[in-house]
Amino acid sequence: MPNALTWLFLLAVATAAAMRLWLAARQIRHVRAHRAAVPGEFAASITLGAHQKAADYTVAKVKLGAWDTALEVAIVLAFTLAGGLQGLADLWARALEPGSLWHGSALLLSLFLLQAALSLPLAYYRVFVLEQRFGFNRMTLALFLSDLAKQAALALVLGVPLLLAVLWLMARMGEQWWLYVWIVLTAFGLVLQLIFPAYILPLFNKFTPVTEGELARRVAALLERCGFRSRGLYVMDGSKRSSHGNAFFAGFGATKRIVLFDTLVERLSPSEVEAVLAHELGHYKLHHVLKMLALNAAITFAGLWILGRLIDQAWFYAGLGVTTQSTATALALFMLALPEFTFFLHPLMARYSRRREFEADAYATRHAESGELVRALVKLYNDNAATLTPDPLHSAFYDSHPPAAIRISRLTS
Ligand SMILES: [Zn+2]
Repeated sequence: MPNALTWLFLLAVATAAAMRLWLAARQIRHVRAHRAAVPGEFAASITLGAHQKAADYTVAKVKLGAWDTALEVAIVLAFTLAGGLQGLADLWARALEPGSLWHGSALLLSLFLLQAALSLPLAYYRVFVLEQRFGFNRMTLALFLSDLAKQAALALVLGVPLLLAVLWLMARMGEQWWLYVWIVLTAFGLVLQLIFPAYILPLFNKFTPVTEGELARRVAALLERCGFRSRGLYVMDGSKRSSHGNAFFAGFGATKRIVLFDTLVERLSPSEVEAVLAHELGHYKLHHVLKMLALNAAITFAGLWILGRLIDQAWFYAGLGVTTQSTATALALFMLALPEFTFFLHPLMARYSRRREFEADAYATRHAESGELVRALVKLYNDNAATLTPDPLHSAFYDSHPPAAIRISRLTS
């Protein structure tokens, strides 16, 4: 029974998809138009060949993204208006009582499993065709499958108890259920952050502590200067999956550790790594991680409050193609439909993130050599085949990091 929500939802889906495809087309056009020459400020440090590889890689990724858009629209509509979710609910109702904890868990688990299975071919293509073609892939099929098995096992071990807890609270806590669910989700997120570096990351990668040599000395001196304590500096074998390089901080409080990809250490000089780490330290020292956690908690709070209003409204279910009113179908519909509406918040989130990047860069220039950071960034743009000439609108909409030219001109000014 289509109602006003149905039309609003369809409008959101169509507008979001059209917007994504339009931005993709703009990005492709812009990158291609600038393919013939390296931008002046990079002419001395990046070859034309590397610049053109970055253009081709960017175009290939955007094209794949367009397929991803189409697939997502198909999945969202198949499960909602086309009756997929209702079909699943009916299927499970043959064995389990609708509205019960078990029916709800089975319904949501099978939904997640189907979604994951449907997006698997594109994930496979991304690694073994796209990344492979541009020489970035180091993953074998065996590793791909073992990663998949580990992720599935983790999702079950961590996700099923969480799911049961959420559904139980929704059923038992009356009007205020959403507040209890919010507390549980927030606590779960915090615990996950704490156990992530020590218990989850090692399932996928090997970490080798760095205690000697110039790099260790430089990093120790940097941490000293910044008044920062961590559980050590580690190099991670990122090269077993991809040749893209990165550096990050994992965990917080007493468990935080500094992790460098082996590919980064190989390519950058110790002083360049130091400058990159100074940037990462900036994120910590300026409380970006805590702010992000707080922002996520606030968004979850708002989302759950809204779901709390919707869950008893028959029009909410009917409008999205479902007749079985239960906590589980409400959750499923909310998770399926919400991203179509929040898509339009992307530019705000991206802008927020880019501002944090500028702040971390400014921090890095105060505690390390900005020239070294610039050199490191240019090497990373080069090695990762990141485009130097993104479409300004595409970049404003999506990019968590400022465009290369703007970022570097701020660092050198
Ligand atoms: Zn950053």
